[in-house]
Amino acid sequence: MSIFEEVSTFFENYRGDKYVYGTSEEGRPLFAIRVGRGDAVGISQYAIHAREGITALLGLEHIRRGLKGGSVWFLPCTNPDGVKLCEEGVGTVPEENRAALIKINGGRDFSLWKANARGVDLNVNFPAKWGTGVQNRTFPSPESYIGTAPLCAKESRALYDFTLKVQPRFTVSWHTKGEEIYWHFHQPSIRKLRDRKLALALSEATGYPLREAKGSVGGYKDWCIETLKIPAFTVEAGGNALKHPLGRDALPMLIQKNLDAVARLTEVVSWK
Ligand SMILES: [Zn+2]
Repeated sequence: MSIFEEVSTFFENYRGDKYVYGTSEEGRPLFAIRVGRGDAVGISQYAIHAREGITALLGLEHIRRGLKGGSVWFLPCTNPDGVKLCEEGVGTVPEENRAALIKINGGRDFSLWKANARGVDLNVNFPAKWGTGVQNRTFPSPESYIGTAPLCAKESRALYDFTLKVQPRFTVSWHTKGEEIYWHFHQPSIRKLRDRKLALALSEATGYPLREAKGSVGGYKDWCIETLKIPAFTVEAGGNALKHPLGRDALPMLIQKNLDAVARLTEVVSWK
């Protein structure tokens, strides 16, 4: 079963609180599953980069694991078209789009693709110093294309709208790879102090060190920090020695290192 099918089946069979918060450019559902009770305190989102689809399966494990308190919306596959394109190839997009995508990609092997199925990198499509990143591109690409405007992609717009609706107290975004955690985006020092406490809890739970991303803008985490003024994290799961896209053989290690991370974060936020 492909990653997206696995997520879909899990969603269909899930008996708790669940919600389709939008659709992708190709009309695939964007799934959200809530674990825990009470006001949602967090959002944990996965697979915004196509070739990092393995994180969607980590998300399902996080849901199965549950929380010790609080509640979290889990968004296991925020870029379903991209994940399918990467895993299963160009046959997953409508016929009329295939030739253009192959041209953008420079061939039929989409295994390193990061964008959605329109060549927009969703994680540089958010209104947070949009378009000023050092690696930003201004034309459709396998990665780093910012789009024609912030939130022009249906998937990033849906994630943005859903986040505003939920009003989370933190967000965490799961990527591969590098075994490191990014946690700031120009927040003032008073908020840095607050956010660092959570970052350290996340670091302790995963064993991954904290890092500073230089010249990276327009990400979901960046927008959460800048506009919502909440702590937000990007976790790069999986060792750097692994090759993109991480295969299912890497999943046991990802789970082992990261299984308790979301529960831990929720616990620390709930104390406040
Ligand atoms: Zn990524």
